[in-house]
Formats: sequence, C-alpha cells, structure tokens
Amino acid sequence: MLIAKSQSGKMMDLSLKKKSDIQALKKKKWYCPSCQEVVIIKNGNVMCSHFAHKQKSDCSSFSENESKEHLLGKKLIAENCKKFSIPYELEAFLPDLKQRPDILVANKYAIEFQCSPLSISRFKERTATYQDNGYQVIWILGEKLHLTSKPTKLQRNFIYLSKELGYYLWELDVVKKQIKNNYFLVATSKKLLRKEKKWNLSHVNFLQILAFSNQKNEKQFYELETEIELFHQLGQWNHQLNQRMPKEMFLQQYFYSKRLNLRELPCELMLPSYKSVLFQEKELILRHAIYELLMNKKKVTKEQIYEKVFQIFKEEEMESYLLVGKRRLIKYHVSLYLCFLLQSGIVIKKENTFIFQMKKLNIRQIEKEILGIPLKYVMINK
Ligand SMILES: [Zn+2]
Repeated sequence: MLIAKSQSGKMMDLSLKKKSDIQALKKKKWYCPSCQEVVIIKNGNVMCSHFAHKQKSDCSSFSENESKEHLLGKKLIAENCKKFSIPYELEAFLPDLKQRPDILVANKYAIEFQCSPLSISRFKERTATYQDNGYQVIWILGEKLHLTSKPTKLQRNFIYLSKELGYYLWELDVVKKQIKNNYFLVATSKKLLRKEKKWNLSHVNFLQILAFSNQKNEKQFYELETEIELFHQLGQWNHQLNQRMPKEMFLQQYFYSKRLNLRELPCELMLPSYKSVLFQEKELILRHAIYELLMNKKKVTKEQIYEKVFQIFKEEEMESYLLVGKRRLIKYHVSLYLCFLLQSGIVIKKENTFIFQMKKLNIRQIEKEILGIPLKYVMINK
C-alpha cells in the first residue's frame, strides 16, 4: 500500500516522496487506514517505497503480497495525474461501497490494476458495486494477464465494447511505463485478431488515454479469405466433434434439433467468418434465430428480431459480461448480422422492415470478407 495514517490521523502518500524524505518518515508511527493496525515503511532497493502491516494480518483492503508490479503501476498512474493536474486519490476508500480501488481518478474512474488472477465472482462483485454507485471501473491488466492468444475465460471478463473500438481491453507494462489498448478484437477459427495503441505514461495525460475508447479514430479493417477460413473452420469442427468436445457437441445437438448438420451449415449462417470474442460459438445460434425468423415470416421489424433473439438467449445459457452488458452484446451482434444480410442481398430493408429475398448464397462468390470498424461489417460479394 502507498498510503497510511499518521498518529494524528493525517494521510501520508508515499508515491510522491523522495527517497531522502522517506528515511525520516520511517521513524514515525503509521497505521493502516483500513484495519487501523500498525504499518511500517519498506524502502528497499527492489520495490518502490510502500507501507506494509507490521504483523501478518488478514486486512480486507490491503493484502500483504502486493507485488512490485502492482505498487509501481499505481505509482505511475498517480505520478501522471500529478503531472497533468488531474484530481486523484490513491487507494481511495469509498465508504458507501466499502471498496478501495487502486486509484480513483477525476472522482469518477475507479482504476483497478489487476496483476494476478482473481475469481470471476470476485471480479463481478467488485465491478457491479462500482457500476451501481455511478463509478466507471477501468480494469487494467498486469503482465501475467496480458493477451497472448485467444482470451481466457477470465480475460474475456475484462473486455469492453465501444462503437469506435469494437471489443477492447487495457494493459499496462510497468517496466516500459506503457499503457496499451488492444482493440478491434475479433476471433477467426485460427486466431485472435487485434489492433494496438500504446502510450507512454510519462508523456500523455491519463484522461486523454482513457478517452481513446470513445473518440473518433481512423477506420480499421481486417480481410479474410472466405473459402480458406471456412475450410479451416469445418476441419476444426470435424476434429472437435470426433474428440467429443462439449461446446461443439452442444452446437451439433442444437442444429440437429433444427434439422441441420453442423458440418454442413448453409453459408448464410457460416458467414461472416469473423466471430465475436465474447459470444464465440453461440454466435451461430443468434444468426440461425434471425435467419429462421426471416425465412418463416418473410417480413420482420428490428423489434421482432430483438424479441426473438432475447427470448432465445433467455433460455440458452450465456456468460454474462458486466463491462459490456447482455443486451448491448446481443444488439451489437444482431446489427452486425443484419448488416451482412443486407449487403449480401439476402434481405432488403424498407423503412423499419426487413424483407427476406429467396436468394441463395454461394461461397465461391464471396472470395474475401472485409470487416471494418466502427461498428459495421463491410462485405464484398464479388
Ligand atoms: Zn490493514
């Protein structure tokens, strides 16, 4: 921890103190602002100077195993706020929430620098408490949790969604003093696609960095070779079904009940080949629901589509992602799929109504798919 209380009850913040000043402070008595136990200053050469409980404690706010990385990350953000005159409070105690973010910035952003794995239930509890109390929680991931390949179940929970960036997540590298936004996260059957934007915390205002998620950015695109991608996807399913992998077995079951075979799905459902990193294989269920509704009714409104899809995902088990929200997640993917159907001429739109055209798609006609943000699929059918 970087703050402690003096004997007179005044708060001391070590993050901005010089080494020479800290030596003098060591002689005074300090107390944990959370459990009120005695804490001491540690200022060795490895870690940045910090307070630690004198005796082993089960203090609820400050664990004793705070890593060098975690201390340094908090300090870097605090120094940035100081430099750019942004109001902040390190390890601020929020009494209504009984929670202590690593640093509260501009009285609004609860910053959590997460350096070690935590349970998803703990993540949800903390996130929900911030959200319910009007704070915007910004989870920034430490080295152990940085994205390498496809996001793990835990990493998926730290993903945000915005119009400008699509799916994104924050990382901090304390050695390089670099904060990174991984954005436009999309999965193909082979790998995770992403773009990156980096800032040095010593030079760029932290609030400007955070604002990146909503400001208009340059358009970004990915391009996929459709046939190759689909061939690969089918091969993967084949293998996974042979191995009786639960997710694929579930999908297979689902499509059997619709008189379809996962290995031979029509390309109206297989495309676009880009998949949501959060929905994953469940995206096919969403697409099928929309496609079936259009095929049966011929004319439907967006509201009817939402109603049907929400109905299905009420019954279907679905992971909930607090930073995105279930409704937003579903609506985003409905709009992407409708966009694809419109662009490939399977539906046309008249005012608020989508009208099904009896058009069959041929994969050979779609050599390449281009996915772009903000928000829209731009498909080329030539
Ligand atoms: Zn304590």
